[in-house]
Amino acid sequence: MTLPHLTMREGLLERVLKEVQRSPDVEIGGRLIGYVREGGFDVLDFIPTGPEPDIATDVELLPDRRYQLWTLDALLDLDGDLAVFGSWHSHIPNGLARFSGQDHRAYAGKMQPPYPYGGMVCGLIHETPSTVEDVRRMLRFAWFPAGAEVGEHTYWPEEAIEWTSAPLNTGMEALLDLTNHEAYLEATGRRLSSLDDVARAMDHLGKRSGHPTHVLRRSPNGERLLLIEEAAGEEGIALEVASDGNARLHLTDEPTDWMPLTRAAGAFEQHLSRWVDVPTEWSHLSPSLVEQLMPIDQADEGITTKPSERRGFLSRLFGR
Ligand SMILES: [Zn+2]
Repeated sequence: MTLPHLTMREGLLERVLKEVQRSPDVEIGGRLIGYVREGGFDVLDFIPTGPEPDIATDVELLPDRRYQLWTLDALLDLDGDLAVFGSWHSHIPNGLARFSGQDHRAYAGKMQPPYPYGGMVCGLIHETPSTVEDVRRMLRFAWFPAGAEVGEHTYWPEEAIEWTSAPLNTGMEALLDLTNHEAYLEATGRRLSSLDDVARAMDHLGKRSGHPTHVLRRSPNGERLLLIEEAAGEEGIALEVASDGNARLHLTDEPTDWMPLTRAAGAFEQHLSRWVDVPTEWSHLSPSLVEQLMPIDQADEGITTKPSERRGFLSRLFGR
């Protein structure tokens, strides 16, 4: 098949390098923006994943859609000809050298009518780069034609991509900053949720239960939260939440893999129900509940977590 002509701004290589270096354990990526030309695409850069991805694990990425939509609107205010026609993402955390079935389905879903272009430009990187030149070689772009079989795609040969060294205009550069999301946060009045907010939601759910049997603890560095249900199992079971929003279960000596909070919370309640007649409804613990319960007033002190005397495997967590 004939591939559309693809032009890429070199500046995005360094930004991809920074993104994958700061996110080695969970997937990261961005939505490609640029211009649609007769017979091809000019890729200027990408809208980053954003401060609060819906899901970011080693095998799954659902970006912060609110941030991405706000940023796209702001970009279109600067230049109404800009368009979004694809994305790139990293499989470095899992090493998968191809697009996954889930990727195929997601792209097909995005290209349902009235999707205006002939297909999508999708980039994938699965090895760890050390330099910009590594990124140029390792980040492969494929064309997913609209209306084709789900998952059908063709990679651009390396030499088929035309690289340009044009700078990004400063307004755009500010909007696309990888880690500084001030403009977005200020314009929307959003505040990023923290573990204090997760602790508040746990406290809320705990108080709603008739016979709470849980204890809340925080790791010494403040980056983890541990919800222990003492009534379950021999030594209790625990749900651990990290500051990146992912969570895992401690049911035995070996913790489970990290997973999105909602999934871990549901599994936690199920395990608890084996030991307790009417378990606390931990399955309601989700990013949206955390957000609903966030105080308007930023001076809120948060919930204090108490250290407790533990025996057995839970006592070894957080070094106590
Ligand atoms: Zn993928």
